[in-house]
Amino acid sequence: MDLFDKCQKFVRAKELMANGHYPYFRPIQDTHGNEVEIGGRRMIMVGSNNYLGLTHHPEVQEAARKAILKYGTGCTGSRFLNGTLDLHEELEERLARFLGMEAVLTFTTGFQTNLGAISTLVGKNDVILCDRENHASIIDGCRLSFGELRKYRHNDVEDLDRMLSMVPKDRGKLVVTDGVFSMMGDLAPVEGIIEVARAHGARVAVDDAHGVGVLGPGGRGTCEHLGVTDDVDLILGTFSKSFASVGGFVGGSKNVIHYIKHHARPLIFSASLPAAAAAAVLACIEITEREPERRARLWRNVNKMKKALSELGFEIGPSESPIIPIVIGDMMLTFRFWKILFEQGIYVNPVISPAVPPGKDLIRTSYMATHTDEELDRVIEAFASIGHELGLLGAPS
Ligand code: PMP
Repeated sequence: MDLFDKCQKFVRAKELMANGHYPYFRPIQDTHGNEVEIGGRRMIMVGSNNYLGLTHHPEVQEAARKAILKYGTGCTGSRFLNGTLDLHEELEERLARFLGMEAVLTFTTGFQTNLGAISTLVGKNDVILCDRENHASIIDGCRLSFGELRKYRHNDVEDLDRMLSMVPKDRGKLVVTDGVFSMMGDLAPVEGIIEVARAHGARVAVDDAHGVGVLGPGGRGTCEHLGVTDDVDLILGTFSKSFASVGGFVGGSKNVIHYIKHHARPLIFSASLPAAAAAAVLACIEITEREPERRARLWRNVNKMKKALSELGFEIGPSESPIIPIVIGDMMLTFRFWKILFEQGIYVNPVISPAVPPGKDLIRTSYMATHTDEELDRVIEAFASIGHELGLLGAPS
């Protein structure tokens, strides 16, 4: 048996490539944030996580440029050894103040943050209670730990309660959930989760990759939005969405962060966040605090799109965030929908099983503060005409 047989047999992607329906790994040749250029054509981007539209903000770009000139292009080492800059510490202090957490530790990606924080804290005798629809990096963090992974039904506090009551008292327990679920855009019932977790002596971690910058009166995320920042044990997140960069963070009590810092292998054995990435995040935090109108504009755009897409008759699910999924329910139809949108100059992400449950294949759209009405109207028009063309909507009235 040759190890590589599976590579030979993997034809699903090749078949889609052959019939022109393969949507992934498309190179973007130029980008202006809300518009990108692909194959020499300008497209409206409604498939990014650049919620505040800060990747092209002059202040953010200038901060990154200055950091490269001062610190160079890479740190060439891990935080543990030669890769800690004063900029990393400044960012951690700034972020702790912004989030309202005692301490923060940054990682090189959000994915590594989940791997590092979860696997470090959860030991052999411990149990992780994980929402079934949590992000892959949380699942992998759980797998990397020596603890036992148990999944509860999506956003089901009663199921969590039932499962927690089956864990013996002498075992450490961590409940982990996305704050905003990345495909459907729905929020976790964090208040209920905390209540149940406390009753069973469990700790609670919220991965707020898609909530920070977007939700809450100060843009501090799902926990601020729900008024539970002081009750949650850990907030994890990424810089690759609202904060227009790359990297991740975990916030918590000083002691816990100190422990993670000295044990997390994805931190200790991987090179640290480049200076330009850290400086960009610092600039983004500044703008997030200074310009609440940016968030207001984002929500205006999101509400406009939600209203328009649901009035057209699309199934858009329970989203409470800038992520608006359009559930198509069939893989090939999803790819056909994507292709026509692509040809009309609209960039979206088709999402199929196993990233979503079977039969829930969807077009994931996500919106930005910087989208103009003209751009959004073009998106709505395209959705309407393709929805009718593919028989997903009733006849136009
Ligand atoms: N958590 C969630 C909920 C995410 O959606 C993502 C990225 N899609 C990550 C973690 C990983 O973040 P990063 O891209 O910074 O590795």
